[in-house]
Amino acid sequence: MNTFEKDGQYVAHTYARFPLQIVSGKGSVLVDSQGKEYIDLGTGIAVNTFGTADGEWIEAVTDQLKKFSHTSNLFYSSPCADLAEKLCQRTGMKRVFFSNSGAEANECAIKAARGFAAQKWGKDRHVIVTLNNSFHGRTITTLAATGQEVFHKDFTPLTPGFISVPANDIEAVRQAVKEYDAIAVMFETVQGEGGVLPLEESFVQGLAQLREETEVLLIADEVQTGNGRTGRLYGYMNYEILPDIVTTAKGLGGGLPIGATLLGERVQDVYQPGSHGSTFGGNPVACAGALNILNRINDALLADVRKKSEFIFDTLSQAEGVISVSGMGLMIGVETVGDAKEILAKCRERGVIALTAKNKVRLLPPLNIPMDLLEQALAVLKDAIALCAIAK
Ligand SMILES: *Cc1c(COP(=O)(O)O)cnc(C)c1O
Repeated sequence: MNTFEKDGQYVAHTYARFPLQIVSGKGSVLVDSQGKEYIDLGTGIAVNTFGTADGEWIEAVTDQLKKFSHTSNLFYSSPCADLAEKLCQRTGMKRVFFSNSGAEANECAIKAARGFAAQKWGKDRHVIVTLNNSFHGRTITTLAATGQEVFHKDFTPLTPGFISVPANDIEAVRQAVKEYDAIAVMFETVQGEGGVLPLEESFVQGLAQLREETEVLLIADEVQTGNGRTGRLYGYMNYEILPDIVTTAKGLGGGLPIGATLLGERVQDVYQPGSHGSTFGGNPVACAGALNILNRINDALLADVRKKSEFIFDTLSQAEGVISVSGMGLMIGVETVGDAKEILAKCRERGVIALTAKNKVRLLPPLNIPMDLLEQALAVLKDAIALCAIAK
């Protein structure tokens, strides 16, 4: 059996995979089992922040791997402490809990909000307001937080205590917070899986105001928007607010699994020894790699991300077959006349890998993609979008 057949027989059928097998890569280029090269506009879904097989990251990871790869959280280790310090210094958050994925980072945030509310208001108050069209993960609790029925089907009953309201409707949030005596509002600053839709400025300012008035906690799910993706270190920084809890994962690890829940001032002491934990959380190898990634997301890189973003918007906004372009930084959704999946297939034929989000083409290139490769990939994408529009 080849890999396709073996996967089909033995791996759970949870993914609709592209019909290709990646065997290697370097930077913004991936190579498949036929030796064909692709420019990567997907980064393993916003994970490979500096592309594939990045030299500096490999060095940071292997240096740690040679020392020790795991100790358990019964011992102190410097990569975990160093990474937590850096995350706090650069965000204003106070403490970090490390886990291994976005869903776990969100579970920790939800648990922190509930713990905070129980300690402050008693356990009758526990509802968390989320937004329609959101995505917060695949566990039973983060599915409950996810405001898209399509993910809930067949898996109910989900964890109680979540209510979702339309995004960008501050009155709806206000009303839900009042009606349910809610303890927190959880949101992505750019809804990723929901179609790469940034929240409106006035709505986010409204959330900040609501927090002042009602003490409701703000939980920013920065699993996809975090770590430089939107042109700022975290997506919320585009709105100049400070959430109470920030979750992240994907791009933080640069290619290894890591999740982080950043606890702000109000909730910093909600967890005590024994109240939360993770066997692999704070893994030294993952943290050493993440520290390298975080240190390289500096002002110059972020300015470059914003410049490339503008270039993509300019190139695609007026292109034939494009209906609209949305997103922020290097997290971009393209609404097209033609079918997004057909456009991706055409792109792959011509050596470019991109993703979808709902019915849109989604672009998540490496933050350091060289300009010439970006131009080349966009030319291919533009052609594919135009061709599929004509076919329609
Ligand atoms: C991907 C994603 C998650 C889930 O992360 P996993 O690592 O797959 O568990 C949660 N929230 C958002 C916004 C995401 O994009």
